[in-house]
Amino acid sequence: MNKKYAQVVIDNKASSTDKPYTYLIDSNMLDSVEEGMRVLVPFGRGNKVIKGIVINVQEDYEKKYQLKKIIDIIDDKPLISKDLIDLSIWMSKEYLSPYIDALQTVLPPGDFKEVKTNIILKELDSKVYVDLNPLEKNIVDLIKEKGGKIELEFLKGLIKNKVTNKVIRELEKKGIIETSLEIQTSIEKKYEKFAFIKDSSISYEEMLNIIGKRSYKQLEIAKYLWTRDEISIKELMTRTDSSLSTIKALERKGIIGIFEKEVYRTPIKKDIKPYEKLQLSLEQRYCVDTILESINNGEKNNKFLIHGVTGSGKTEIYLQLVEEMIKRGKETIVLVPEIALTPQTIHRFVGRFGDNVALLHSKLSFGERFDQWRKVKEGKVKIVVGARSAIFAPFTNLGLIIIDEEHESTYKSSMNPKYDTIEVAEKRCEQLGAFLVQGSATPSIESYYRSRKGDTKLLNLKKRVKDKKLPEVKIVDMREELKLGNKSIFSKELYEAIDENLKVGNQTILFLNRRGYSTFVSCRQCGYVVKCSECSISMTYHLGDNKLKCHYCGLAINPPKICPVCRSKYIKYFGIGTEKVEEFTRKFFPKAVVKRMDMDTTSRKGSHESILNKMKDEKIDILIGTQMVAKGLDFKNVTLVGIIAADTSLNLPDFRSSERTFQLITQVAGRAGRGDLEGKVVVQTYNPDHYSIQYAKDHDYLAFYNKEILLRKEFNYPPFVNLISIVIYGEDNMHVGMITRKIYNLLIENIEDSGLKDLKDSIVGPFPAPLEKIKKNYRYQIIIKSKDEYMEQLKQVIEWVCILNRNKIDLTGVKFNIDINPNSIL
Ligand code: ADP
Ligand code: ZN
Ligand code: ZN
Repeated sequence: MNKKYAQVVIDNKASSTDKPYTYLIDSNMLDSVEEGMRVLVPFGRGNKVIKGIVINVQEDYEKKYQLKKIIDIIDDKPLISKDLIDLSIWMSKEYLSPYIDALQTVLPPGDFKEVKTNIILKELDSKVYVDLNPLEKNIVDLIKEKGGKIELEFLKGLIKNKVTNKVIRELEKKGIIETSLEIQTSIEKKYEKFAFIKDSSISYEEMLNIIGKRSYKQLEIAKYLWTRDEISIKELMTRTDSSLSTIKALERKGIIGIFEKEVYRTPIKKDIKPYEKLQLSLEQRYCVDTILESINNGEKNNKFLIHGVTGSGKTEIYLQLVEEMIKRGKETIVLVPEIALTPQTIHRFVGRFGDNVALLHSKLSFGERFDQWRKVKEGKVKIVVGARSAIFAPFTNLGLIIIDEEHESTYKSSMNPKYDTIEVAEKRCEQLGAFLVQGSATPSIESYYRSRKGDTKLLNLKKRVKDKKLPEVKIVDMREELKLGNKSIFSKELYEAIDENLKVGNQTILFLNRRGYSTFVSCRQCGYVVKCSECSISMTYHLGDNKLKCHYCGLAINPPKICPVCRSKYIKYFGIGTEKVEEFTRKFFPKAVVKRMDMDTTSRKGSHESILNKMKDEKIDILIGTQMVAKGLDFKNVTLVGIIAADTSLNLPDFRSSERTFQLITQVAGRAGRGDLEGKVVVQTYNPDHYSIQYAKDHDYLAFYNKEILLRKEFNYPPFVNLISIVIYGEDNMHVGMITRKIYNLLIENIEDSGLKDLKDSIVGPFPAPLEKIKKNYRYQIIIKSKDEYMEQLKQVIEWVCILNRNKIDLTGVKFNIDINPNSIL
């Protein structure tokens, strides 16, 4: 009686239960079912046959009656590994997330039910063939019949034998076949047009003659093509800076041929230049050696924080660590904040390791993502570079996880499971015995605190590479400028610095953390401010399309000509956004080439990269932008950085606003003076004496940290407590308010009952959330502060009250958004 039970998760969003279902495993399947495999199971009253995924196999189960049986096993090997399943279970508990959402993060991209296994015949020595048993021979014959490749499910349909999966696995072990995963997507195969020199017998001179001396552009294209086999038209156009019509003209003259060809879905550009290994500086060397020594000794303390000033060469450290991991046969996950915004980092990794790199992030199409995921799964690459979700890359021999710019808020997921990538990375390292390296010029207060306590090992890079200096930072008090009668967006200091920088031919970056033209529109007579009808947010005026836009829900309306409240005509536009900075920059510096880079100018695919390329080639004099220009950019010729208003993030009512301001100023300032020329930074502010601005000016992270950590302690904020934010929202304001009150009371009751008396005073609220209304929903908030030791019990209470609704209160019309240690409490 060796009956076993399998817990199977069914992707059934409609179902109200977020639990795995238990099924019986038939004896003839016993040794083929493993965790992570997909199975066919009967489901629901009608016993509809559907696909599920096994997350647990167990010897016993308390309720043995009425269990249904697994019908069939789909996979010959697990689709996902046990450690990733365990990780998803852990996340679901840790972040109070529905299990199905947590599981989704570790499943292959797309719909796991659509994944197919292809079996490919590798080699067939007749001596080996003779020794096969009849079933094996049958399988091999069938694959051969189908041209060497067959789909597993199709094969099983032909054979109808319960042990097929096992036999397949045996054959794979013997090296006779291999398997490969594939996903059906709605995306069509991708075709692209390619060009080539048509007549291969033609001589170079003949060719030029046919084109004719005066068709300069055509000549240029032909010369370019002459030395190549074929090239995609898209690439040809960018390479030769030519138009499609010029290329078509060459086709008409019979010089070139154009044909369509399927292109492999790869997000990695082919034309990335090799990135040569650099000779490490002493500081870098020490850093790499310390980490390697720990790895070699298999030390218990497997976590590092590299605090290295901007331009200290952190990337080179990562690259050389990866190289060492490859030597040891180990795999590395490299995380970057937002992959679309960090092309330079990607170029360096691909430039050094080429085909050994896969890219994983959410901006890719499903097809592209699946292809990258599969490369990892099938062991075709040793390195994954990606945004936070790449932490789930299905490596089996993971040695190292690198988290670059570890302070960035994008490492916290805002959707279920609302995980913190650093915590998940630690968990994976613990599971797999891997090492973790975090790096930043401005580590988060939490991370630095942990290295201070000794939870992670701190490594410092105090100098920029080649002894380049950190830029000089000037603070300009904008109140003084006003007093002197300067109402422009540029202070005298910044204006003159830009002017000077243009004269010597260097590049400038201007930073402002707000897009659009005017940040709010208001009536001068009655004070009315135009707000989004769906959100409690003032709308931003965008000059480009002459609309008022809500930056939360995207709603766009025509700007009012008269005040909707008092009918006056005195509608005024206030506040500056990047569009206005651009306009004024062009006005003041008409000869300069000015470009703006923010969400509005980079929505088209490739536009972001194109701006960065122009910047690199020094075709832009002044680059204006939001956060996008603050992150990781490494341009040699940028010698001036201007921060138009350092206060935008400072005035937010959030406990992290000082930290964010310090980080932003330091990071943006860090873009200046990275080449041979010294850099200068001008920071405009109305709070020149604020400590985050003063310490950023002095490049003094430690002083900032020391001040900030005291405040966090005094006001009881992370890292001294955990914050839990519970937002309750719905369309009926009164109703949501009432439910929130009920929930609050239940929380208090349950917390008391659980003996968590200490926590009673740490519940803040309920109150209308700082953003009272978003997308038509009214929002109320309860915030709980809790020490680590109470967290488990507290989460239990929240689960009872808010998720399982054990008190059975009527929750129609309201939803919950529970976030554990959120990025901000706004
Ligand atoms: P950050 O620490 O700000 O991430 P980067 O990794 O971008 O700095 O490095 C800054 C610049 O210094 C890059 O252009 C990089 O190529 C260069 N660099 C890094 N290490 C060295 C080295 N050992 N020798 C010479 N140049 C280096
Ligand atoms: Zn009015
Ligand atoms: Zn809105």
